[in-house]
Order: sequence, then C-alpha cells, then structure tokens
Amino acid sequence: MTRLHLFASTIVVFLAGPALVSTPSAQAAAGQAQVAAADGQDAPLPKVFLFATGGTISNKVGGRLTVEELIAAIPNLDRRVRAAGEQFANASSSSLTLEQWLDLSRRINAKFRSDPELAGVVVTSGTDTLEELAYFLHLTVRDERPVVVVGSMRNPSTLGYEGQANLEDAFRAAADPASRGMGTVVVLNDEINSAREVTKTDALSLDTFQSGRYGVLGVVDSAGVAYYRRTVRRHSAQSEFDVTSIKSLPRVDVAWVYQGATGDVIKALVDAGAKGVIVAGAGAGALSGDQGQGIAYATGKGVFVVTTTRTGAGRIAVRSGRGRAGGPVYRISGDDLTPIKARILLMLAIATSDDGAVIQRMFSEY
Ligand code: ASP
Repeated sequence: MTRLHLFASTIVVFLAGPALVSTPSAQAAAGQAQVAAADGQDAPLPKVFLFATGGTISNKVGGRLTVEELIAAIPNLDRRVRAAGEQFANASSSSLTLEQWLDLSRRINAKFRSDPELAGVVVTSGTDTLEELAYFLHLTVRDERPVVVVGSMRNPSTLGYEGQANLEDAFRAAADPASRGMGTVVVLNDEINSAREVTKTDALSLDTFQSGRYGVLGVVDSAGVAYYRRTVRRHSAQSEFDVTSIKSLPRVDVAWVYQGATGDVIKALVDAGAKGVIVAGAGAGALSGDQGQGIAYATGKGVFVVTTTRTGAGRIAVRSGRGRAGGPVYRISGDDLTPIKARILLMLAIATSDDGAVIQRMFSEY
C-alpha cells in the first residue's frame, strides 16, 4: 500500500471540492468547510495556505508551474486538507529581494491573524537560498502555527522529479498539530529540519538539506508526521522582530577569513554603506592578514562586527569582560549561527536596536 493510500484510508467519508486558489470567489469558497467524518463526528479538514515563490520545484521546460498547477498536481490533496494558495512570485530563490521577503512575512502574519482556522502555511522556494528565507520567516512570523518551506532539487521536466512528494509532505507537516510551536521548518526528502539549523550542503544531491550535528527535527513518512526534538532558541511566537515596523533591512555583508586576507575589503564594505559585517572566521573565529585593521575601522565608524566560524559548526561564545569598560559594544559573538544565518539575524537586530549589548543578547537568545 502506498503512503498516499495509507493516509487516505484514515478518512472514511469526505466531501471534497477542487483545491482552491486565491481568486476572490475561491477565497469565499475556502471558507466553506469540506468535511471528513472519520469517527462519526464531523471534523473539518485542516486548512493550509500555500505561498508559491518559484524555484526548481516549479521550473519546468517552457515555463514555470503556477500555484494552481502545483496544488492540482498532488493526487487527492483535497481529501486531506483544505488547500488554497497564491502566486507570491515565480522566480529563483536568489533573485527574490529583501523587500519581497519583508512583504512575504507580512502577508503570512496577516494570513494567520485573519484566519484562526488556518493550521499552517506552506511556502515553495528555490533551494539555493532557501535556508536564508526560511530563517528570516522563523524570526519574523509571530505565530505558533507552522510555516513549512519546501523546494525540490529536480525540476518537473526531469525524470525522478521529487517536487510533488516534497510538496505533499509539506502540506502534511503544515496540517499536523504536532508542528505547532516548531517555527519555520524545511521539508524535503521526507525530513523536517529547523530553519535555524538547516543548510544546503550539496549542489545536486536530493539529500542536500542537513542540520549538521543537530540532525533532523522529525520525519514525514507513510504513517504520518513524527517529531523527535525541538529547538530551544527563541523564534516565531516568542520573537521580538516585528516586520510591520521594519520598512527596509539594513545592509549587512559577509567577509571571509582566508590566509593573507586583507582588511581593506572590510573597509570597502563600510565605505559602501554596510551597517554590519559578519566575519566568517577561521576555526573559533580567528582572523588573518591585516583584517584586524579593517575591523577596527568598522567599529570606529559604529558598524557592528559579528564573529562566526567558517567551519560550519561550533559556537563562538560571548567573551567575558567584553564591553566592561562601559562603552558601546560593536563586537558581537555570533554563537553557533552560520555566517549566512548570522547575517539574517544581524539585519533584523540592527533594524530593531542600535545598542550592541541588546544585539549581543539577541545572538545569545535566537
Ligand atoms: N536555482 C534554483 C533556485 O534557488 C535552485 C532550486 O530551486 O533548486 O531558485
């Protein structure tokens, strides 16, 4: 028996219409509950809303699949969820702008606020920068209900396209009450990873999304959704980052440490307008060449410099004594965030506060 049959067999009676898209009439229709009576009592199917943004999951030869086509391609989806969606964008992940990220987060927050019945949200994305968008949503969608970000490594015109299976898993994860409180999760390859921890680790492999030594939060398999752990850092409903009051994100760049690297690169970033610089340090945050001079230039101009590690794992802890002189703090320890994730947090942190001690607190809490 296939996974689909197992899932469907738990539903004894259903009244289902076609999956819904967000035309005004479709939105009205979405309000009409389709009913599953699995145990003799009427219980509405969970409601899940899909924001489609593009990426390989929809990028077929000759044009991109629309949100309607993505939903329609999942067999019997309307037996399991009340699905509706909107075409937010249809582009590669790396071509979305930071303004679009802010807009998407506001739209998801508004959708949760306006629809108490909604179980969760699914976002399709290209995989290249998916982990960045996912972490941004993890920090800015302030609701207990889950956001599930999903993509695929093979496109719909390729043999072995796994987009349908991934999208079905994403709908199941978004509909499942166990996903509440998990924040934004990334679902591909039958695995559920936390947006905070997950990284694309391979340019081509289907198994590309990994959470390093922390591992998956859970799985989606033929029997359903199962979680084994949760992240304890602040996110979603506990987040202080309110994008309704953030009009644009400040410029934050990443400077890599490599043998003989020069500080003039960091100076150039500051002169170009960076308000923050993430240093992807060697080992436990070491610099090379004369990068220290570049950092001194940056902090002298009030630019926040966050130390992370380029190794991909391990913590850069707050050094005791830093800032003890009572002056403003511009050097921040990036904890265990990858340089790319640290950039997301620093953009939101600077948009929220100009106090380095507060920003350091954020790196220790999120
Ligand atoms: N170029 C694509 C993107 O990030 C890659 C993918 O979706 O897998 O949009």
